[in-house]
Amino acid sequence: MTGKVCAKCRIELRPKRNGIIAIEMADFGPYKIWYADAWVCPQCYSKVVLGFASRPAYELYQPEFADALALARQEPDTIEFWMDQKQKELARH
Ligand SMILES: [Zn+2]
Repeated sequence: MTGKVCAKCRIELRPKRNGIIAIEMADFGPYKIWYADAWVCPQCYSKVVLGFASRPAYELYQPEFADALALARQEPDTIEFWMDQKQKELARH
């Protein structure tokens, strides 16, 4: 068993893909690029991103960041996320 369960459906999550890219966003835009794993509930199709690497692959201050970001955004499984709802709302304005 995977040790990952959908609380709503009470069924185990399935691995969707290992090694997806997760872009950590700040109110000013993209901030860090992480590798992580995507899991999906086979019943409700909720997707969760877990198993982040211990360090980001790229950070904004690095010269390679812009190129890495452009490549990451071409990947269909890449997600963008915020630390909390407030940051996410600030980013919209
Ligand atoms: Zn579910």
